[in-house]
Amino acid sequence: LSDKLDKALHVLKGHGSITEVNVAETLKEVRRALLDADVNFKIAKEFTNTVKEKALGQNVLTTLQPGQLMVKLVKDELTQLMGGEAVGMNLQGSPSVILMSGLQGSGKTTFSGKLANFLKTKKSKKPLLVACDIYRPAAINQLQVVGEQIGVEVYAEVGNTDPVAISKNAISHAKANGHNVVIVDTAGRLAVDEAMMTEIANVHKAITPDETLFVVDSMTGQDAVNTAKAFNDRLNFDGVILTKLDGDTRGGAALSIRTVVEKPIKFIGTGEKMDAIDVFYPSRMADRILGMGDVVSLVERAQDQFDEEEARKLQKKIAKNQFGFDDFMKQIQQVKKMGSMKDLVGMIPGAGKALKDVDIDDDAFKGIEAIINSMTLEERTQPAVINGSRKKRIAKGSGTSVQEVNQLLKQFDQMSKMMKMMQGGGGRKMMQMMGK
Ligand code: GDP
Ligand code: MG
Repeated sequence: LSDKLDKALHVLKGHGSITEVNVAETLKEVRRALLDADVNFKIAKEFTNTVKEKALGQNVLTTLQPGQLMVKLVKDELTQLMGGEAVGMNLQGSPSVILMSGLQGSGKTTFSGKLANFLKTKKSKKPLLVACDIYRPAAINQLQVVGEQIGVEVYAEVGNTDPVAISKNAISHAKANGHNVVIVDTAGRLAVDEAMMTEIANVHKAITPDETLFVVDSMTGQDAVNTAKAFNDRLNFDGVILTKLDGDTRGGAALSIRTVVEKPIKFIGTGEKMDAIDVFYPSRMADRILGMGDVVSLVERAQDQFDEEEARKLQKKIAKNQFGFDDFMKQIQQVKKMGSMKDLVGMIPGAGKALKDVDIDDDAFKGIEAIINSMTLEERTQPAVINGSRKKRIAKGSGTSVQEVNQLLKQFDQMSKMMKMMQGGGGRKMMQMMGK
C-alpha cells in the first residue's frame, strides 16, 4: 500500500512540472490505496473525484510544490470526510447514561472497562458498570474482572434475565450511590438478528441514554458498514467506537462507516489492556488509511524546516540576484537534517527543481560544503569576486581541486539563473517552453 502511494507521490515530487495526467495518475493510486484499506468502492471513487476537482480548482499545477499540495489536499479531504475534529461525549445527565451496542466479540465489554477507566482517571468521574449480557454467565464474570482491575463498581443481578429491568435498577442504584456515569454493557450476537435488535431497542427505549455507542471491530472491513447501518436504523446511535486498531488494520472501515451512517467516531481501541483507548482524531486516521504516514510527516518536517518566513526571504533574495553560497549552505544543512537526500531534494522551495539536475547522491554535499566552508564571507555572498588565485586558495583549503571549485561555481551560477526564472513569474513561462 505504502509502496503504491510512494510511487504515485514520487511521480509528483520528481516532476518539476505537474500535468493533469500526473494528477489523474496519482488519484488513481490514492483510490487503489483506499480500496486496499477496505474503503467502499463508491466512497473511494467519490472521494478521488472531489480531490481532483479541488486540485484543479486550486491550480495545483502552477504552484511551487505541487506534490506536497496534492498530499495535503488528499489528507485534508479525508480528514474532513471523517468529521474534521474530534467529537466529545455528552456527559450532562445526572447520572449520564451510556449504552453499548454491537455484535458479540466486537469489544463492548473491554471498551466499557476502558471507558470507565478513562472517565475515572481523566475526567474525575465516578462510573458504574452494568452487566446486561444475561446469556452467558461468563460475561458477567468478565465485566467483574475488568471492574476489579480498574477499581470501578460493577452492577449485576445474577439470575435476572430481563436486561430492561437490570439497567433500570442499575440507574437507581447509581443515583443512590453517587455515581455520575452509568455504562451499560449489553449482549451481542454473531450476526445481526431480530431478537438482539429488539432486546437492545427495548433497553434503549427504557433508559433513554445520553450516549448510545456502537462498538465495531475494525478488522471486519466491509461487513462493519452493514452492521453499523442495521444498528443505526434501529437505535439512531450517537457515536461509533472502532476497536482493534492495533495490529495492521488499516482502518478504512472508519471512513466507510462515517460516510454511510453519518455519525462521528468517538474513540478507538488499540489493544486488550485497559489503557488502550484513544480519542478518535480524524487527521491521524487519514494518515493511517492512506498508509502514507511517512510521506505526510516528511512533508510536515519539510514545512517545519522551511518555515514560510524563510522561504519568502529566500524568494526575495533570488529575485534580487542576492542568493549566495551561505544561503545555499543553509539549504543544504536544512535538507540534511531531514534525512535521505534523494527523497528530499524535491522539497527545497525553489531550489528543489534546479538541484534535481545536479545529480545528487547522499555524499554529494560533502565536497560542496568543504568548498563553501573555505570561502570568505565576501566570496559567499558575492561569488563574482572569486578569481583565479582565490579559487586556488579555496581548493587548497577544502582539500579539493580548482576544477571542482570551478564546477561548483558554474553549477551555482546556472542554478541561480534557473531559480530566478522560476520565481519571477517566469516559472510558468518556462514550463510552457519545456512543454513545447
Ligand atoms: P464483546 O463480546 O463485544 O463484549 O467483546 P469483548 O470485549 O469480550 O472482546 C472480544 C475480544 O476482543 C476479547 O478477546 C478482547 O480482549 C479483544 N479486544 C477488545 N478490544 C480490543 C482491542 O482494541 N484490541 C485488541 N487487540 N483486542 C481487543
Ligand atoms: Mg461482552
